[in-house]
Amino acid sequence: MNSTRRLSAVFLTFVLISMTACAGMPNTLGIKAANSDEPFENRLETAHFVLHWTSRSNFNPDNISDPAIIRETAGYLETAWKKYVDLFGRKPYMPPGHNRIDVVFRTMDCYGLADPPDAPIQLNARAWVEQPGIRKPTSAHELFHKLQYAYGYKTRWTPHEPYSWFTEGTAAWSEVYVWGRVSRTCKVDEMFKDIKMDLYEADYTALPFWIYFVSGNQPHPRNDLMAKLFEKCEQLGSVRKALDEVIRENYGPPDQFFAKFAKERKNGFWSRCCDAYSCILGPDGKDAVTEIRDMRR
Ligand SMILES: [Zn+2]
Repeated sequence: MNSTRRLSAVFLTFVLISMTACAGMPNTLGIKAANSDEPFENRLETAHFVLHWTSRSNFNPDNISDPAIIRETAGYLETAWKKYVDLFGRKPYMPPGHNRIDVVFRTMDCYGLADPPDAPIQLNARAWVEQPGIRKPTSAHELFHKLQYAYGYKTRWTPHEPYSWFTEGTAAWSEVYVWGRVSRTCKVDEMFKDIKMDLYEADYTALPFWIYFVSGNQPHPRNDLMAKLFEKCEQLGSVRKALDEVIRENYGPPDQFFAKFAKERKNGFWSRCCDAYSCILGPDGKDAVTEIRDMRR
């Protein structure tokens, strides 16, 4: 066996060990595949994650038979992890005593879930198999919730209702920040289609506001402001106060900033130049920004 082949054999053995069924291992996740008393029998461990999945559930939608899908997702999660740590200088939240985040694949009624803070990240097994276009943005989105927890959200403070425009809106922003794509096109275009929609009721469709907040429609986006915002949220325990302070320090009076956003939302602020956020793909691979440009009033 030459050295390259020997190296390949060692690597293959490593992969097989990492990916073999671990029957008999204690299942500490507290989550099982639907219609099954069995724990997830497969696991893949990476630098910051342990991914768990099944390929032998009685409930077929829970099954992922192709381990390449899991390996690919593990790579996406590690990429998002690095981009977050580089920008925010802080690791996503892990429960005390943990040094990796558990990720489980099972069928549920949404693409992903990362709630409550101590729970594993859950990704929808059926959607994962059937809709490859959601894998990048959804994995980044759920991991971003863990980063929010690292700033005390739901671990040391809870914002006043409504707050999904902030928690889901910034998690939607993270999809674009990491991958330049979103799991649902409505996150990008709904706010322009429905210009009467209240920002604070917008949930993850508040995404355009957060792109505007980081000057995503300008040649030099200020992604650092997102880190500043979360630091201030942690200090003040209030999203509105934190946001007002960051806006005041970087853009001037908050009232004027919000008024400008409302105006630009009507005429489509993507109609002018932008670089980093100039193309945002939907799960089908179509560019939603072009669609908004074409919507110009
Ligand atoms: Zn979310």
